[in-house]
Amino acid sequence: MTIDTTEFRAWRVEETDAGFVGRERTLRIADLPDGEVLVRVAHSSLNYKDALSASGNRGVTRQYPHTPGIDAAGEVVASSVDAVTVGRPVIVTGYDLGMNTDGGFGEYIRVPASWCVPMPSGWDSRTAMVYGTAGLTAGLCVRKLLRMGAAPEQGRVAVTGASGAVGSVAVELLAKLGFEVVAISGKADHADQLRQLGATEVMGRDALAEDRKPLLKPEFANAVDTVGGVPLAELLKRIQPGGSVSICGLVAGPQLPTSVFPFILRGINLLGVDSVDIPLAEKAEIWEKLAGPWACPGIEASARDIGRSQLDECLKAFLAGASAGKRVLDHA
Ligand code: NDP
Repeated sequence: MTIDTTEFRAWRVEETDAGFVGRERTLRIADLPDGEVLVRVAHSSLNYKDALSASGNRGVTRQYPHTPGIDAAGEVVASSVDAVTVGRPVIVTGYDLGMNTDGGFGEYIRVPASWCVPMPSGWDSRTAMVYGTAGLTAGLCVRKLLRMGAAPEQGRVAVTGASGAVGSVAVELLAKLGFEVVAISGKADHADQLRQLGATEVMGRDALAEDRKPLLKPEFANAVDTVGGVPLAELLKRIQPGGSVSICGLVAGPQLPTSVFPFILRGINLLGVDSVDIPLAEKAEIWEKLAGPWACPGIEASARDIGRSQLDECLKAFLAGASAGKRVLDHA
């Protein structure tokens, strides 16, 4: 028996008369796309983009049946490239994984060697997937703020979508770095958890309700925004002169109905963050930090494991804006 005939389980999304349906299927290694490195996936992580792929969003995934999962961590079991050796534990996130390349919701992936980051020492695949793309993105957002000169003494930092996967890591990481963090969240019942992660204050989403004025009293020195849309436009009006806002998400909408005033009258910096198509070395740098000085023990302790049978329910919660904290998919 060659490795190509080896069977494995995957959570496959298929287009049916009843819409897009995800269910467990048995596949063979030969069903995977060609690639240099075959990885046995031990853990994956749930992200908003996986929910979009699972619901048939063609902007994320063009063709079905498809195995979502933009994150994967596990062990290399075959490699045609000297730089990535068999037996090495690796993290694979972003690029095309889980979009149009079968992803981490299957027990195996086959990908280019250039997508594989060596697992930081001291980490296992579960720990890596507690952070996943969300943790990587939060780290990139924070690094951009720091590169723009953000410092705790400048004042409070706001985090929107604070109970979400990216937001919750941003809250804990900024608090750990000494910032006074204001968590902005639509989930009143999540306020205690956000305080436990280090938020000094929790505001409801109505704090960023639409206001016609082009500028408002500056409340925050800097911010991490994970929601986009009107809340981001409102946030920009409330940033102190010279402050920066790292942005990564669009759950509140892809449009940004703002004016030039925050930028030309207060010198606000809008910092775009992409975690997907950036050089591997940039990803590796953030992973090393999260495995070291940027570790977030609160996030690690609060992450919950699920099996493939719970994927459908958990992914739907993302689309309903009801997901909170980190979910790790355990293939065992
Ligand atoms: P989550 O669903 O885990 O978190 C989003 C949070 O936003 C929710 O928990 C909720 O938090 C809040 N929210 C949901 N709906 C709305 C709404 N209509 N208006 C305002 N707030 C809302 O998603 P992730 O944290 O995984 O991702 C957040 C965003 O970042 C997504 O758009 C995702 O696509 C994007 N992303 C981008 C990446 C990049 O590379 N640029 C990488 C990773 C994610 P609360 O209830 O606390 O307000």
